[in-house]
Amino acid sequence: MFSSAARIATVFLFVAVAQLTWAAGESDPKSADADPVKALVGRLELEKYKATIKGLTKFGDRRQGTDRNRAAVDWIEAQLKSYGCSGISRVKYSYSPEGARRPSGPPVARDAAQGGARFRGARGPTGVNDNSALQPDAKLRQLDSQSSQPGEREEVYCTKVGSVHPDEMYIVGGHMDGIGWGEAANDDGSGTALVMELARVFSSPDVKTERSIRFALWNNEETGLNGAYAYVDQRAALQGKEEPAGSGRYPEPKWLGMIQHDMMMFDHGMPRSDGSVSKQQRPEADVNIEFQSLSKQVEGAQKLAWAFMAANESYATDYPAAVGPHMTNTDSTPFMDLVPAISLRENERGREIGAGWDPQWHQPTDLYATYNDDDFRLGLNAAQTTLGAIGRLSGASLIR
Ligand SMILES: [Zn+2]
Repeated sequence: MFSSAARIATVFLFVAVAQLTWAAGESDPKSADADPVKALVGRLELEKYKATIKGLTKFGDRRQGTDRNRAAVDWIEAQLKSYGCSGISRVKYSYSPEGARRPSGPPVARDAAQGGARFRGARGPTGVNDNSALQPDAKLRQLDSQSSQPGEREEVYCTKVGSVHPDEMYIVGGHMDGIGWGEAANDDGSGTALVMELARVFSSPDVKTERSIRFALWNNEETGLNGAYAYVDQRAALQGKEEPAGSGRYPEPKWLGMIQHDMMMFDHGMPRSDGSVSKQQRPEADVNIEFQSLSKQVEGAQKLAWAFMAANESYATDYPAAVGPHMTNTDSTPFMDLVPAISLRENERGREIGAGWDPQWHQPTDLYATYNDDDFRLGLNAAQTTLGAIGRLSGASLIR
């Protein structure tokens, strides 16, 4: 029989162990039934994710500064509206290729991969296709044919307003423009669709979050992150201001973190010695979560990255995650010295994608039809990871 002192000691030990386990992010102490985030992650569906990517590819490569890009922005906005996402707004800015180019990542050693990583093993070809004749589909070639003009640009965002802290938010982003005379299905239809699917789930009327979440579909990523830079330039100073005073409304809640999604589907492994890449998703495929070790907010950024890793372990159904320190060439770069910023990708951007691990990258072959369900499912697992992490961080619950 337990003495009461022993009983108290046992209870204390149990609580201490439970807290340790939680702090390490190894498992969720709540049962599956009691975890509202698990229920929300369960609302993501492979077929819906695929349908959203397919919808984006109807606008071809969505190159910035074209009618097809503007039509895609309108379509994304209509979808967000149909999900019930609130406060739909646009950032307006102007772009010309003559403008000064701003950094896509930190300065690194000359022989390093972009972002600071070190190349390993075999490398395949990379580059941007600018030759229309390499698109064999005449209809798609025609759709992609209008050239980009300098001038006004727009990008759309919407917001889930927090019920307790409407003045603080996480930003969940993907870039909706593409290049290369294909359909930009993976780069970045896969990231754009992920952000849109999260907007759909979080905007459901029975979902409540304590903190706000903004869903942003950046434009002009492919020309040097111009759309994300425009957002930071125009809106950083507005953070946390109530407008009008006393209204409880915050047009730009204080930024708690920025999470970018770009190229989510194709992890077929390292190129072979002849530069070719396997046609099959490798069984070891993973979601790569990157922070930037040279950013001013590195401490917060890596903490955010580990929270995403833990969410992947709790919620992603098929593929694990890996964390790395070399985030680069992505719309989280303009944010990374101001706020903890990370990116999610199919592979590490610097040493893997930069070494030819994705042969569709900026090529006419980046088509919806190029990918199979093993590929689409990697993107879905990234969506499960971000939904799980942001669900926890924003304090998501279901209204019964
Ligand atoms: Zn991209």
